Amino acid sequence: MNTEQFYPIFLKAEKVTIDSRKIDKNDIFFAFSGDNFDAATLAEKAINQGALAVIIENKEFENIEKNIFYVSSTLKFLQELSVHHRNQLNIPIIGLTGSNGKTTTKELIHAVLSKKYNVQYTFGNLNNHIGVPLTLLSIKPEHEMAVIEMGANHQKEIELLCSIARPNFGYITNFGKAHLEGFGGFEGVIKGKSELYNYLINASQTILVNENDLIQLEKTQDYQSKITFGKVNSDYYFEAFSENNFVGVQYQNQKALSKLTGEYNFTNLCAAASFGLHFGLNFDEIQSALESYTPTNMRSQVVKKGTITLVLDTYNANPSSMSASLHNFITFEGSKTIVIGDMLELGDESKKEHQDILRLAQNLGFNEIITVGKQFKNVNKNSAAFESTDEFIQYLKDNKIQSENILLKASRGISLEKAIDFI
Ligand code: ATP
Ligand code: MG
Repeated sequence: MNTEQFYPIFLKAEKVTIDSRKIDKNDIFFAFSGDNFDAATLAEKAINQGALAVIIENKEFENIEKNIFYVSSTLKFLQELSVHHRNQLNIPIIGLTGSNGKTTTKELIHAVLSKKYNVQYTFGNLNNHIGVPLTLLSIKPEHEMAVIEMGANHQKEIELLCSIARPNFGYITNFGKAHLEGFGGFEGVIKGKSELYNYLINASQTILVNENDLIQLEKTQDYQSKITFGKVNSDYYFEAFSENNFVGVQYQNQKALSKLTGEYNFTNLCAAASFGLHFGLNFDEIQSALESYTPTNMRSQVVKKGTITLVLDTYNANPSSMSASLHNFITFEGSKTIVIGDMLELGDESKKEHQDILRLAQNLGFNEIITVGKQFKNVNKNSAAFESTDEFIQYLKDNKIQSENILLKASRGISLEKAIDFI
């Protein structure tokens, strides 16, 4: 079976899924084999559940009459099929990468552009070598645009994702200290993320540039096809303002106040507004989109619990986003406790980065500092240090945090959100 032969079947399908629990009628099921079982054994079951076709890597279970097709690699076939599909599409595709803020920016761009267009976009955080193909395959004839999040923690990953998605527009949210281990230090991050620029430049496509970011500026300085924001003489100029701990953008004399906290979200809002203006929306439409977007995903989420203001940012953490988050939180009015958990995947620089963040927290002067995780415990001799979220929860059962504002921020692996109910 090759992709061209299979394409007509794909066009008749509802959706493509790799999760056997999510098969609905007329879906195509790609049976990726797990470590402990051969997903091909699920093929018959999938067809009985109503799947239109199943792709398997185990020749033994092939049954062409039942639309169970063997391929040598389900992953490769998924990628090739998505490339084939992408090549039939004649709509603008926006590709996003960066160390922090990809998902937030993707959601904001989607919110804005949806005011005028039918926009498909990455579902959740499906931003890798499987997620990007799945997103592309979810683009239907009625879609007029797509926004694709591309994640990476090693060199050459963005290059691969670009070769699949072939974006017409691209934006790098920022270059930060994230996944230092896999990228080989900060220089490695810049190189790895810049693969998006390399693709766009080679393919003569358009780059959105934040002119306040020196790396973005330098990497794109000789390139013509750009949309710019950040400076007074950029294509689009926005000013930041804030109200009740939420950040907003002002464009000319119009204002849009978001439901996001953190100065860093200003850039994310600017990127979304820039794409909006570029694609012909007026600022009233952009304002309405930015004002109604509400994060629900533990990313810069502000929630009230009784009289306490909780900032939930437990979705991920690295030195850049941690520092941005602390600088933002110190501006909150009233007493403040921070609960910060380990930043994972930092490799050799881990100890130093945890030390630096702790020092920053101490210098900023929070009322109380609590750390969770082994890395912080290793360097934190002055304040409350718990080895794990479970240990922190035990503490919370007998002790109450007194501050009016509490920030929770940690890497995903720390599962700090489990503590929320005990605060
Ligand atoms: P992932 O690599 O997990 O996909 P992501 O790049 O999609 O992450 P988001 O999920 O949007 O990033 O945001 C994660 C956290 O990063 C936010 O909660 C916030 O703390 C921080 N953050 C968001 N935008 C920025 C930014 N522009 N600069 C620095 N930090 C940011
Ligand atoms: Mg993301």
